[in-house]
Amino acid sequence: MSYIEGLKCRICGARHPVAPVAICEACFGPLEVQYRFDQIRAHLDRGELVSRPQSMWRYAELLPLEGEARTGQHTGFTPLLRAGRLGERLGLRHLYLKNDSVNHPTLSFKDRVVSVAVSKALEFDLRTIACASTGNLANAVAAQSAAAGLSSFVFVPEGLEQAKIIASQIYGANVVAVRGNYDDVNRLCSEVADRFQWAIVNVNLRPFYGEGSKTVGFEIAEQLGWRIPDAVVVPMAGGSLITKIYRGFSELQNLGWVRENGARMFGAQASGCNPISGAVKAGAQEITPVKPKTLAKSIAIGNPADGYFAIETIRSSGGWAEDASDEEIVDGIRLLAETQGIFTETAGGTAIAVTRKLVQQGRIQPTDLIVIAVTGQGLKTTDVVNFVSPPLIAPRLGDLEHLLSAEHSRRAEVVTL
Ligand SMILES: *Cc1c(COP(=O)(O)O)cnc(C)c1O
Ligand SMILES: [Zn+2]
Repeated sequence: MSYIEGLKCRICGARHPVAPVAICEACFGPLEVQYRFDQIRAHLDRGELVSRPQSMWRYAELLPLEGEARTGQHTGFTPLLRAGRLGERLGLRHLYLKNDSVNHPTLSFKDRVVSVAVSKALEFDLRTIACASTGNLANAVAAQSAAAGLSSFVFVPEGLEQAKIIASQIYGANVVAVRGNYDDVNRLCSEVADRFQWAIVNVNLRPFYGEGSKTVGFEIAEQLGWRIPDAVVVPMAGGSLITKIYRGFSELQNLGWVRENGARMFGAQASGCNPISGAVKAGAQEITPVKPKTLAKSIAIGNPADGYFAIETIRSSGGWAEDASDEEIVDGIRLLAETQGIFTETAGGTAIAVTRKLVQQGRIQPTDLIVIAVTGQGLKTTDVVNFVSPPLIAPRLGDLEHLLSAEHSRRAEVVTL
């Protein structure tokens, strides 16, 4: 019941058979999956789909597997929640949060892309899974490989948050730190892909992997009652997620399930690593790589693989991109936690901080129906907020009364690099 037609080059349009390759032989452009949309339209029924189990796999026909998902069967269909208190603070009347900080099983949206990639690796009979990662992808690859009974290698840049290392090693993954930044790790992984018969989820399996991110867009539309929001704010690293959410909306339009895809796509980066938002703001067509220097490590990619397409999606949709300082990012984390009771990591804090700027700039209107993608979990990046010991008292009411009368409004401080 597969609807995959093949792979197609995003630059020259050349067709390629379905295989673990990501680059066009003719022009070195990136490949993407082509579907038989006429057949999907004829067979897939919206009414039937909504009665399926609540995971990303209810959209299986729009994902690039031949058979069933082999891991991550419970991934996706995360809450879309109305954020009234945060909206009030930001001056937005119709604000929603897509909360992938509680995505199953490793608490970031990366479980979606890995669920597709590991299942696809098994279809290709590749039994070692690998990735180049800034942390969250490593966690998802390690966990889902373990669940599928496969061995894994995850390559990360040096100096990553300890929680993200532990949350990869615990599954028995081979974690290798590489001297340098993410872009050095990625370059090494391209050479590894040529040498070993491994499924490197974001290298040779990249065309399939990226498709998993479309489900964020499918779910947002479904959870809004088959409606496309006016604006979506998305943290950007390699620039894939933002393009795939938009693609997801367009595919639903293509199926006739929603009205026109009028979403304006807004990208968020850290000012210390802003190759995509910098290009958008400067009116540039191409990415100028940067050297990352930010505490938002999960989105610190200086030479983004999908940067060009992210710029194109942002521009053609009528959106914009902005970046936030480390201090603004931590303020964003705190604002979300204090208003909505959701603890996100630095990438989510970046999206909150950038939304605030976009409202101030008048690029997002108070009456817009807007969705912020909260992509990861705060417990993985606790190092960005200082630990403050809580006041210690004896188990006596008098001590508590004394404490309450004293000044004790202590808060975590921003850690500066
Ligand atoms: C990877 C990641 C992103 C960005 O994803 P890209 O598709 O690489 O742009 C955003 N948020 C979190 C938490 C991530 O781990
Ligand atoms: Zn090509």
